[in-house]
Amino acid sequence: MTMTPTTNAREFERARHAMPGGVNSPVRAFGSVGTTPRFYVSAKGPRVTDVEGREYVDLVGSWGPAILGHAHPAVVEAVREAATHGLGFGASTPGETALAEHVEARIERDGVRPVEKLRLVSTGTEATMTAIRLARGATGRDLIVKFAGHYHGHSDGLLAEAGSGVATLAMPGSAGVPAPIAAQTLVIAYNDLDAVREVFAVHGAEIAAVIVEAAPANMGIVPPRHGFNAALAEIAHAHGALLIVDEVLTGFRVGPAGWYGEDPVPFAADILTFGKVIGGGLPLAALGGSTDIMNLLAPLGPVYQAGTLSGNPVAVAAGRATLENLDATAYARIERASTAIADAASAAFSAEGVTHVLQRAGSLFSFQFAAEAPHDYDTVKAQEAFRYPPFFRAMLEHGVSLPPSVFEAWFVSASHDDGAVSQILEALPHAARAAAAAVDPAA
Ligand SMILES: *Cc1c(COP(=O)(O)O)cnc(C)c1O
Repeated sequence: MTMTPTTNAREFERARHAMPGGVNSPVRAFGSVGTTPRFYVSAKGPRVTDVEGREYVDLVGSWGPAILGHAHPAVVEAVREAATHGLGFGASTPGETALAEHVEARIERDGVRPVEKLRLVSTGTEATMTAIRLARGATGRDLIVKFAGHYHGHSDGLLAEAGSGVATLAMPGSAGVPAPIAAQTLVIAYNDLDAVREVFAVHGAEIAAVIVEAAPANMGIVPPRHGFNAALAEIAHAHGALLIVDEVLTGFRVGPAGWYGEDPVPFAADILTFGKVIGGGLPLAALGGSTDIMNLLAPLGPVYQAGTLSGNPVAVAAGRATLENLDATAYARIERASTAIADAASAAFSAEGVTHVLQRAGSLFSFQFAAEAPHDYDTVKAQEAFRYPPFFRAMLEHGVSLPPSVFEAWFVSASHDDGAVSQILEALPHAARAAAAAVDPAA
């Protein structure tokens, strides 16, 4: 294959003329790591190749969907086969039912299957937005409780920031979000059951649902405290509110049944949301729950939701092929490679005297440049984040593509074999040195 003679810098320049910030999702602009974003032309297994023909071992994995490795043969073949039969009908297909049945059987713990019915949508944002509408429809209440630092996509009510006190209504977290909409959300500190009890003590009768990342991974990894999810469900239910567990990132990644199947303390979930892995790299997401709750959706119930591309047959084929190949062997591979990479990175930081903590949620992990493990958004923000950009750039120079933000998890796939892992291990000491040498710009 001949490469087009271009560079990442030239592509970025051109992209910035055509698209705001040169990107279609902000993190891709590499704004917080101070270098030129890479423009990719292909990906295979654990590696991606940019427009300059440089290859990197990839730890972004399309932000999760590439859990079997990029362009897994079974997934590509399923997509090719589905595409041959038509790209979409705007009508039902047997594949959608098969995917729903697979998910409903798969999300199980101790004989309990919280997903009795599933609705397919196209993005995680749509899944959580619909979950909230459904919770409001089910309870006849308006208020939503969310946790600071948790990401649930970019619908208006979820782009909210904490007000001045635990029980005060939130403020817009983005321009364009009307204050009265943000005020329907209450934003509280994570891992703090007293804050949960307080917010329910004040607003309990008006709260439709609490939404929580099953194991938060969008402020780096910040695992739930022992029993946190279970207690959250109890408190919400005691006040007649629902618990929405957002597994868009953790679902099918941290284990066959997501974090629902892995949490040391089993928890009840009224609505679960899925995305990323479920689409195997194509736009597909879902929400599920009990028959009683899910049947409130149109056409059976009064809660409206629809989608031209919902359950698209090509996306469904990619998702099914991905889930079918995510077996015990695949999870064991991911776990093994994750442990090797995480432990080596930690050792490299220690060797250079870089204060850090490794936080894990199953095979998901990330580092925070702090002496003690952050447990909420405030403690995450207090870390020495300035050490990440030079670390990131050194890894990139040594052929490893990390998430371009310290607030993201590292995504390992089942295709990260010994060769890919040792390439990462070779890069780490150089990058750890760069992290050690970093200077706080604010000091
Ligand atoms: C990525 C993510 C979303 C949003 O999904 P999109 O497909 O990007 O809209 C929602 N919740 C969590 C936990 C996520 O990680």
